[in-house]
Amino acid sequence: MPKPVYFSGGVHPHEGKAPTAAAPIAAAPLLPLYTVPFQQHIGAPPKPVVAKGDRVLRGQVLAEANGVVSAPVHAPTSGVVKDIVDIASPMGRLGPSVLLEADGQDTPAEPLAPIAAWQEAAPEALRQRIAEAGIVGMGGAAFPAAVKLAPPPSKRIDTLILNGVECEPCLTADHRLMLEAPEPILTGALIMARILGVKTILVGIEQNKPDAIALLGAAAAPLGIQVQGLRVRYPQGAEKQLIYALTGRKVPTGGLPMDVGVVVQNVGTSAAVVAAVREGTPLYERVTTITGTPVASPGNWRLRVGTSYAKAIELAGGITGDTAKVISGGPMMGFSVYDLETPVMKNTSGILLMAPSEVSQYQSHACIRCGRCIDACPMHIMAEALSVQIENERYDLAERTRVLDCIECGCCAYACPAHRPLVQHMRRAKQEVLARRRAREAQAKQ
Ligand code: SF4
Ligand code: SF4
Repeated sequence: MPKPVYFSGGVHPHEGKAPTAAAPIAAAPLLPLYTVPFQQHIGAPPKPVVAKGDRVLRGQVLAEANGVVSAPVHAPTSGVVKDIVDIASPMGRLGPSVLLEADGQDTPAEPLAPIAAWQEAAPEALRQRIAEAGIVGMGGAAFPAAVKLAPPPSKRIDTLILNGVECEPCLTADHRLMLEAPEPILTGALIMARILGVKTILVGIEQNKPDAIALLGAAAAPLGIQVQGLRVRYPQGAEKQLIYALTGRKVPTGGLPMDVGVVVQNVGTSAAVVAAVREGTPLYERVTTITGTPVASPGNWRLRVGTSYAKAIELAGGITGDTAKVISGGPMMGFSVYDLETPVMKNTSGILLMAPSEVSQYQSHACIRCGRCIDACPMHIMAEALSVQIENERYDLAERTRVLDCIECGCCAYACPAHRPLVQHMRRAKQEVLARRRAREAQAKQ
């Protein structure tokens, strides 16, 4: 593999991984109640197929995919649908969710037929299986995995990249999975490579996980898969930065990895692919890091989807001190949650609690034109100019200043001495620009 090349910008925040890096993945006990949101992916909401009072089995479909970019949702255990209610997701969006009262039996539904001889299976049958199993990007994006594995014929894909970078501070779920389940991760990569028809499989891991690089590297070499240690710099795990590091290819502005012949999947997604293909198991659980100063016993747990944050934190021994913030995900890209009944979803990589001393209340000030946000931006975006445009609601200018290229990594805000809410500005402007585009397209069709 050629020497990695590195993106400019980025930051190196406190890593905060030590409390959980050596904690083996523990299985969570069954709970009496799960809250399972229907919308757990980017794309069209799935169509519910259960109603209040229905009995369901573990792995049974609760909602079917509804359109091309959609994914089904499966029951995390057996029990009764107590109700269907609106619940806030970790991002704060209200959406219908199944309140599943567990019967304690954990009776499995008839599994999807295992495809043991996947090496001989038709690529489209394998892709269909990934779709049926409701697998989405488990690194955080939650984009349906099967859709990524069906690029249009005009895009020639030659490389599959597995993302084991886990550059987000405090999170170690992927790290532990790479140490404890290298075989499923690598087999999942081979299955996805078969679907895409590619020969080159690369795995990127930050150099702060030397044990994972060594272990996965040794297991990967006989399979022809190349594992590369990468510089520790946030956001090394962002798709465009990862592709650049491993292949030297630059995804064009407004483009996708497939525009440079690459598909990227997270290592957790890869392990889920194997479970779906070899065992016929749909995605209803995942590994999540539960950590932070106020947590009694930080660690990594295999949690069923629908576990409340409150119950997840109890598993980690509960809260021992004052807590100022609970974050879904990591400190750079995560979302602050306001209700501990928020459920774990397919993309919940971490639950992070912060003590009052770790959270600063600050006033934002006028921009002092220091340029630190520009130096820090891995996407070469003029964050300070954009921020002023957005404050003045000049979304037309923001679109021309490439706000849609923002990957919401938070490096600009991290670097800003004036504490300007730069990421919040970018998120707001991206939503507004996209909404205006949709309105223009709808008008043009009339
Ligand atoms: S402008 Fe967007 S991509 Fe650039 S540093 Fe800020 S959040 Fe990251
Ligand atoms: S880092 Fe903050 S203060 Fe400095 S130029 Fe950027 S927005 Fe302005």
